[in-house]
Amino acid sequence: MIKLSLYEELKKKEYKRNWNHLHQEDRREYMRNWRRKNSNLHRIQIRKYVKATKEKVIGYYSKGNNECKNCKNKDIRVLTIDHVNGNGAEERRKLKRSGHSFYVWLIKSGFPEGYQVLCLNCQRIKEIENHEWYGYKGD
Ligand SMILES: [Zn+2]
Repeated sequence: MIKLSLYEELKKKEYKRNWNHLHQEDRREYMRNWRRKNSNLHRIQIRKYVKATKEKVIGYYSKGNNECKNCKNKDIRVLTIDHVNGNGAEERRKLKRSGHSFYVWLIKSGFPEGYQVLCLNCQRIKEIENHEWYGYKGD
């Protein structure tokens, strides 16, 4: 393959960006049709992408152990990202992100510090013990 100079590479990127911009509607239409025709495949792809994103984030924050920091539960279905300082609800409101889009945000932000992996049980117990639970009126 011919190696492009930085200038040529930038030109190519710019051309691609312009092309994408000019053909935005065509591309959207094409993708819509493709999804309609391949709805099952599309669903599988989405599921794979969502799963891979979660595995990546859980893997990073559990240092490759893929387990709850507290009880060592390894069931990916119940593992979540917990805010060490317990301002999760507030931060989610600020970011307007939860679930998958929160995981994507963590990856795009270069895995910021202050998060840990907890299972849903341990997260809820921590919330109750720290009175983080929104609306909690207990003692
Ligand atoms: Zn746990």
